[in-house]
This record gives sequence, C-alpha cells and structure tokens, in this order.
Amino acid sequence: MDSLDFGTLFAALRGIPLDHQDRLQLRAWLATVDDAADAVTNCIALIEQAAIGKCCPRCGGARSHRCGHASGLQRWRCLACGRSFNALSGTRLAHLRKKEHWLDYLQCLLDSRTVRASADAVQVHRTTSFRWRHRMVGGFVHERAAHLAGLVEADETYLLESQKGSRQLTRPPRRRGGVASHRGIGRDHDCLLIACERDGAALDFHCGRGPVTGAALDQCLGPVLAPGTLLISDGAAAYRGFARRHGVGHEAINLRAGERARGAIHLNHVNGWHSRFKRWLVRFHGVASRYLVHYSGWRRVLETASLAAPPRLLAAAVKAD
Ligand SMILES: [Zn+2]
Repeated sequence: MDSLDFGTLFAALRGIPLDHQDRLQLRAWLATVDDAADAVTNCIALIEQAAIGKCCPRCGGARSHRCGHASGLQRWRCLACGRSFNALSGTRLAHLRKKEHWLDYLQCLLDSRTVRASADAVQVHRTTSFRWRHRMVGGFVHERAAHLAGLVEADETYLLESQKGSRQLTRPPRRRGGVASHRGIGRDHDCLLIACERDGAALDFHCGRGPVTGAALDQCLGPVLAPGTLLISDGAAAYRGFARRHGVGHEAINLRAGERARGAIHLNHVNGWHSRFKRWLVRFHGVASRYLVHYSGWRRVLETASLAAPPRLLAAAVKAD
C-alpha cells in the first residue's frame, strides 16, 4: 500500500467513532504488526552479525563496498569480480522469504516438530515448512567438532534404505514398509557411523550401503582422531585394520562372545546415541536415505547444548557453505 492509500484510509478511520471493542481489535492488530516487524529486524541483525567479514561467494574476494539494500539485507559489490552479494548469498538460506518466522521455525526444529506441526505453529504452508526444514538443517549440520580425543567410542548403526518421497523407485516397492531382501546387513542398509568422546562431542558419518569398510573408516575417522586417542569398537576387522594403519590405540569389545565392558572399555555411549536417534526418528515415520545426513546432523545438533538456541542455529546456518 502506498502512502496516499494509507492517508485516505487513515482519514476515513479517524472519521469513524471507535467503541471499546473496535479499539481493542485495532490495538491487537497493531501489536501483531509490531511483533512481525521486530521479528524481521531481529532476524536480519543476527544474519548480518554472523556474516561480518564475509568474502565474495563467487570469487572469494575479500574487498567489497556497500551497494544499497535488498530484502532488508545490506548488499555488497565485490571489487574483484563486480558481482553483488548479501549475507545470505551462497548459503542454503538464500532466497527464502518470511524472515519474521525464521527464528520461530528454528525453535520448531529444536523441539523436533514434524513438518505439519511446524507449519501450523509458524503459520506457513506445509511445502514451505518442508523446504525450510531441509534448508535450515542442511545449513547448521556443518557445525561439528574438528577432532575427537581421549577415549573415543565408534560403532555403526544400520537403517533400511528408503526412497520415501521419490517419484520413481529404483527397486520394487516393499510391502508394509520395512523388511530387507536378505537377512543381516546388506546392500539395502544405509550405514551410519557414530564416533563419540566420553563426555563431549559426537560425530556422524554416512558410509554408504552395507557393512562399514576399512576405506570408509580411513576417510571418516582418519582425519578427526587426535593424537593419543584410544579408539573403542566392536570386534569388526575393519576397525583393527584402521587402528593399525593410522597408529591409533585400539581396544575391541567382543560383543559376539557376550562381552559388554572391561572396566572403562565399553560402547555404552555410542550405543545410547544410536538408540536415542532411532527412537527420535519414529515421529517422522521413516526418512528418505538421501536426507539421512540431515537427520543425523539434526540429532547431533540437538545433543549439543551449545547450539540449543534459535539465534545460535541461525548463525551456524549463515556461516556454513
Ligand atoms: Zn567476487
């Protein structure tokens, strides 16, 4: 609405006698307008704050100058390549609208609400809710510890491959959702590897389909285990080989022989992580394999106390990529 329309409307409104009920209604409406405006301002301030010092997302140039505003965000023009960008350019949150709802939506993610419940809570459409979930989660799951140290438990858990939401299945559909084509762990299971410190960080890794291999352990655990780490695993040969190749101290728990623990040597933390993850997944009624990385990352963030606030998650999502 331009100012002329508003002026006319406001003059008309001023000519109308307002009774108590009318005034209450107007006040309530103005309060929601104020809240929405405050929410946008708050969200934009957090985004700009998180992006201080950002380089050009196209060429990496560090020098840029101010060049107006768009969608409430400062625009910058890169001195090297001449392209313009803002704090969200190159992040998964670029081009998403309705910033007045973002922080509330991030709180829905912290509350592990479903797509539909989140849509109802922040009053957006369900397709918007689905898009926001995966963009936001995809943004903040990169927030992860660089290294694990001390006693580190590592173990895999397997989830039946799922093509939920795919228009075309690459295999015959399963009856009643969930039985593998063969007994045991095979090519129709996604392998999720979790490694966790005793009272600290946990890291999630996706190791493709089927039992974990030595090559996958090299790739996932190789770069993150700090010197002096003692790795604890089950008796799978892949872990023994990994530890030998990387010169990492290693203790195996022989689960097959019924062994549970030898003093401080056990897998209780990592197995607790697995069971919390699987219990938590139940509310989503199955997750597509292609999104598994989002769900394990989302779960990991939920277990990280330092990230458990919407502004912190927003900052993480803006800094990522
Ligand atoms: Zn540039």
